[in-house]
Parts: sequence; C-alpha cells; structure tokens
Amino acid sequence: MIKGTGASGGIGIGTVKVIKVQKPVFERRRIREPEKELDKLKKAISGFTAETEKLAAKVEKEAGKKEAEILRGHLLILRDPVLTAEIEKLIRGGECAEAAVEQICNMFISVFSARDDELTKQRAADMEDLKSRLIHHLLGLDVIKLSPLPPGTVICARELTPSMTAGMDKKNVAGFITEKGGETSHCAIIARALEIPAVLGAEGIMSAVKDGQRVILNGDSGEVILSPKAETLRRYVLEKENYDQRKELLKNYRGKETLTADGDRLSVLCNIGNSDDADKVIAGDGEGIGLFRTEFMFMDRDTAPDEQEQFEVYREAALKMAGKPVVIRTLDIGGDKDVSYLEINEEENPFLGQRAIRYCMAHPDILHQQLRAILRASAYGNIKILIPMIADMTELRFVKKMTEKIKKELSEDDIPFDEHIKTGVMIETPSACMIADLLADEADFFSIGTNDLIQYMMAADRGNSDVSYLYSVFKPSVLRAIQHTIQCAVDKGITVEMCGEAAANKLITPLLISFGLEKFSVSPSSVLNIRKEISRYTKPEADKITARVMKMSTAEEIKKYLTRKTGTKE
Ligand code: PEP
Ligand code: MG
Repeated sequence: MIKGTGASGGIGIGTVKVIKVQKPVFERRRIREPEKELDKLKKAISGFTAETEKLAAKVEKEAGKKEAEILRGHLLILRDPVLTAEIEKLIRGGECAEAAVEQICNMFISVFSARDDELTKQRAADMEDLKSRLIHHLLGLDVIKLSPLPPGTVICARELTPSMTAGMDKKNVAGFITEKGGETSHCAIIARALEIPAVLGAEGIMSAVKDGQRVILNGDSGEVILSPKAETLRRYVLEKENYDQRKELLKNYRGKETLTADGDRLSVLCNIGNSDDADKVIAGDGEGIGLFRTEFMFMDRDTAPDEQEQFEVYREAALKMAGKPVVIRTLDIGGDKDVSYLEINEEENPFLGQRAIRYCMAHPDILHQQLRAILRASAYGNIKILIPMIADMTELRFVKKMTEKIKKELSEDDIPFDEHIKTGVMIETPSACMIADLLADEADFFSIGTNDLIQYMMAADRGNSDVSYLYSVFKPSVLRAIQHTIQCAVDKGITVEMCGEAAANKLITPLLISFGLEKFSVSPSSVLNIRKEISRYTKPEADKITARVMKMSTAEEIKKYLTRKTGTKE
C-alpha cells in the first residue's frame, strides 16, 4: 500500500493510466527577425487564450465559477505587463520565442517556489502550467490530451496541472493519484469540485504503477492499493457503494437550515486553521466559522505575523463568509503547540503551564497586536473574539479591558471596527465549567472545547495512549460538565457552541440537543452529516435518551446504549 494525502473524498476503483508529461523539446535559436518572432508569440498567446477560455467554460459548467477562476487566473498572469515585456525584451535581443518564454517563466517559478507559503508555491505550479502550454502553442504542438479516456480510468501522474485536470472527461475518471501536490493545490480544488476522489503527494507511485493495473484509492484516508486481491476488491466495492449512497442522501441537506425533527433551529459551523479553509467551509455548506485556530498562522515560519498580515487574513475570512459568523480564537500556544521563535519557557508540565491566554497575558504585546488585527477586520464581517483556556474570571476581564482600550485607539485614528464585537470564552477547564454561571454574566458566548475539557476533567493527557482509557467524552463526569456548562449559558441567555471533536460525534448528538446546545462547530466535511443527525431527533426523544444516559455510571455502558439506540457510529 502507498500512502499520500487524501485530497478529494470518496473511493475510486479503476484501471491505471499513467500520464507522463513530455517537456516540449525545442532548439534554442538566435533569430534575426525579431518582428516575425514577436508575431509568432502574439499568435501563440491568442491560441493559448482561446484554449484557456474554452477550458474555463468547461470547468465552470462542470465544477463551478470559482474553480474556473483558477484557469482564468492563467490569463491574468499572461496579461501581466512585466512578464510579457521581459519576454519581448529577450526576443528583441535575438532570443527565439520558446527560449524567451522558458527563461522568463523559470525566473518567476524560482522566485515563487522559494517562498514558504502554500499560496505562492501554488503560483509557481500555475506558472509551470502556463509555460508548458505556451511553448506547446509556439511549437504548434498539441498539449497533452486526456480525453478520450476509457471509463473507470485512474489517472496517475507526477503532478497534474489545473489545465490537465480541467481538460479531462469527468465521467470516465474514477480517481487521481499524484506524486506531488497537496490538499490546497489547484488540482485538489478542482478534483473536489468535480467530486472525483484524489490522493495527492503519494510518493513512489510513479515507479510502482503501470498502465492497465487495477487500483483502489481512498480520497479520505490517502491510501492507495495496487493490484488488490479479489477479497479486498469486493470489500472496497461495497464500501464505495455505501459511500456513494450516503453522499447522495447527504445532498438533501445541502443549502438547508439545521433543524431538529420538531423544527428547532440549530446551526452547524466549521473549525478552520487558515483563511483558505474558508473555501472549504463554503464548499461543505457550513453556516459560518465556529473556531478559527489562529496559532497555525504562527507556526512553520521564523517570525510572527505582524498586525497587518493578521488583519488581512482575518478580513479575508470575514469577507469570504459574507456576514456569517467568524469566531476568531486568540493565540493558543504552549501545551503541545510550540512556536520556535516565541519565548515559551521550558516547563515540567506544559499542559498545566503558560498556555494560551496565560501566555498572552504574560506577553501582552502579542495579544494587543492580535486583538487590534481582529478588531480592524471586524469592520468587514461578523467577527467574534474567543479566548482559549480560560480558568479564571480575571483572564476574561483582562482581554475585555484590552479590547476596550484598542477600540479607543482605533476610534481616535478613525479606523473602522465593529463597536458591538462579541467576546466569548472557551470552556475547556474544570474551573471554567464550575464558574460557568459567573462567566456567563460577563462573556457574550461560550464555546465548549471538549478536546481539552476531557483531558483536564479526567487528568489524562490527550496524547498519551497509556491513559487513553480515561480519555472519552462518554465519561459521566465529562457529560455532566458539558450539561452543566450548557445549562448555565441557557439560564443566563447567552449562546453556547461546541467546537471540540465531540461536536461531530453522532452518538452524542441527541444528548447535545437535549442539553440545549445551539451551535455545533465541526470540520467542513462533517457539516452535512451532523445536520442530518440533528434532523433525526425531536426534543422529547432526545430528552428521553439523555435521561437514561445521565443515570448510567460508566462510559462503556453509555456508549453501548447510544450505539444501539441511535443505530449510528462515532
Ligand atoms: C478543544 O480543546 O476542544 C479545542 C477545540 O481546542 P484545541 O483542540 O485547539 O485545543
Ligand atoms: Mg483546546
């Protein structure tokens, strides 16, 4: 088995077609008549433009407007006056058009590839695609044609360019497997929009496969099975049928309100780690962002993002959400989340140390900068502030006081922000849970972080397998903590959300409905599943199940009962 990144969900079963992109071969010539060469370039550009428009129209029809923009983006790159001026300059200096295009594109590619962020790296891949296609046009060659393909084809390639992905005959493609590329590559975006399973970044696939070989790929787990045994194949065929059926059923919940069976309106939002993920929220039909984990923006780099960079990221998320809620959590580092360039003390018990809000209070400049960025971005959408790891009222008051101070600064400088921005607290420590009634007097909303709440309630490290028997949402103490927190919020009339993994656990959906949870925040791919699950229960039914469960004394008993009663799995 080969493992890559599951980049577009679903199971693909089919026959391998290996695609080897031949680099266009040309002879580098010195030219004497630059005008003639410039004319050739002009013709190639117009051929390229017509081809791209055609591909974009096809993608728009099959996948959507946003995906078509990826291809139209190639036209924008080509219209960049710097790019064309540089190419023309080389041609006027005696270089042939093919070599001029190659040199200038390569220059941009190496600049883009050297950057650390995924987005700029993606531009390098786009530029590579553009270069190859433009040279094909200059040489009067056909760019690799992927259609017609026989039905049930699994495309294997080192890398798939957006134009190749877009150009193929969708109905005959059972899946994509590539050596290069990840979840955020344009190939992945188009594959998801076309609903074709894809595993990208599967190292070694090109030397392991050959044309005509049978293959199974799992676009969720990233697994690729070559030449499967008959028994494995049978199992996956069944799994694929189930998957496809479930997907069809879930489609009925797309674009719908989240309602219980007796019509109570709840909502399903999403957890994200960067502003690009906002696209996944839209694709997954989330009703907003319930948790933006901002610490990811601070990781895998050498310096902290400054106020402007943070502002732009938060604003982008707010604009993409177009008025739907965007809950931005302040920096949650420490514990197991290390950021090398920030001063994080070596601690004996990092999970009980200067983590999250505790770190921010010890480094108020970092918090000040982040809150300023969030407040500035709040002028562009429905942004809320969320504070992680609250254990004490002083922490909430500290953040609120700083927020008020920043509001004054911004007003003095005539910088717009949302005057009524809401500040919520994460309930993920037993202390916060025990003072939930007091916190509810001063916080605008709660978000229950079950991932940490379980670990702190049970005093069991969430990453330590030796104590994993204690780490369970079904533990009576954990369920009581959740129930108590929600009850305090309901009593005080503030909104209560859940953003820990448990929000997506279908076994406890009836309990959460009965407790009075209003907002579930889950990964984008779980939205429709949870919306469907919520629609199965009326409040009285959920209450009945909950009453039974809350009398039980072990997690095993509870889980067994819920599995039987709900007929579903975690
Ligand atoms: C949680 O603890 O449940 C939570 C959502 O936060 P994180 O997983 O980022 O600690
Ligand atoms: Mg947490």
